[in-house]
Amino acid sequence: MRIAIIGAGIAGLSAAQTLRSADVEVTVYDKGRGPGGRTVSKRTDHGSIDLGAPYFTAREADFRDQVARWAHAGVIEPWSITPVVLPERQPARDQARLVAVPRMSALAKHMADGLNVHVGVQVSEINRELTGWVLRERHGETLGEFDAVLLTAPAPQAQSLLAEPCPGLAAQVAQARMQPCWAVGLVLERPLNVDFAAGFPSRGPLSWVAHAGSRPQRAQWPDIWVLHASAAWSEANIEWAADQVASELTEAFADLLRETPAVTQAIAHRWRFARTREPLAAPAGFLEHEDLYCAGDWVTDGRVEGAWQSGRAAAMRLLTRLDDSR
Ligand SMILES: Cc1cc2nc3c(=O)[nH]c(=O)nc-3n(C[C@H](O)[C@H](O)[C@H](O)COP(=O)(O)OP(=O)(O)OC[C@H]3O[C@@H](n4cnc5c(N)ncnc54)[C@H](O)[C@@H]3O)c2cc1C
Repeated sequence: MRIAIIGAGIAGLSAAQTLRSADVEVTVYDKGRGPGGRTVSKRTDHGSIDLGAPYFTAREADFRDQVARWAHAGVIEPWSITPVVLPERQPARDQARLVAVPRMSALAKHMADGLNVHVGVQVSEINRELTGWVLRERHGETLGEFDAVLLTAPAPQAQSLLAEPCPGLAAQVAQARMQPCWAVGLVLERPLNVDFAAGFPSRGPLSWVAHAGSRPQRAQWPDIWVLHASAAWSEANIEWAADQVASELTEAFADLLRETPAVTQAIAHRWRFARTREPLAAPAGFLEHEDLYCAGDWVTDGRVEGAWQSGRAAAMRLLTRLDDSR
């Protein structure tokens, strides 16, 4: 059985691990420079900065069990802070927030260990042929023929790959709504004089600010703050140049603090599809059409936990089909 997984984010890796634990070999393709998708960390002259998901939570028993295994392996740690709602400084929702150590991308790296993951490969075509699915990368080279394909790209990217071979599935995928996010990493000359480590600004362009050094195993880093723009601001300014975004969001941060941060470097990153505004909340946790499966956070609930559950659910369904056909 030849199985391809498109996407080495949490969903794709969770699916690949599930299949591998049943001794089913898979090939994973990702267009990024490394595995992790929206949990990757950006390498800079000042070390890695987590510009994607800043943390994740674990609500359901299956994911809590997985989290316990990752904690046991030393891959994740709790981030013991209580973010505040700004500018009022009221404590935000009390919940256990988890981070990978020493950087977010360590989680995907751990999950990808031992798997057959090809990075830097963008799948640009999926075609159904007589003997299976044929995948092609963006230069037109064939990646091979597969009996089943699991697609875990963000919804709009999945939709465009599916438009020709599976218009019905593409129409279902189109129901999921994703939002962009501009993120900025601010490297500072000296620490800020503030009494919170992370906060959710309730108005203005920003929706999240956090001190990187407050995260476990990051204390030795230079003084770095990470800012996320709100979905509305990001959407309105999605085509802005990175420099312009960095300077506007730094100004918004200074207004919030009533202090001007001494910035050594500001690194802006645009996530075109960051969070899911309207996930499909598909009861099975994945979508299916013959031997083609779609999984990802947008199929479930728009979080790391949902991505992990979705990938696993699709892989388990695939295993059931394999058993039935034996
Ligand atoms: C700024 C930001 C803040 C967030 N905050 C939180 C939070 O606080 N808590 C939380 O739980 N979650 C948060 N998230 C969401 C979380 O990161 C996602 O839910 C989760 O990482 C999604 O995993 P995934 O595998 O479904 O998708 P992704 O991580 O997007 O993985 C999909 C992968 O597919 C690859 N890909 C796409 N198209 C192709 C192609 N054609 N060929 C090959 N590869 C392809 C991509 O490169 C990517 O690696 C945040 C995300 C962002 C960006």
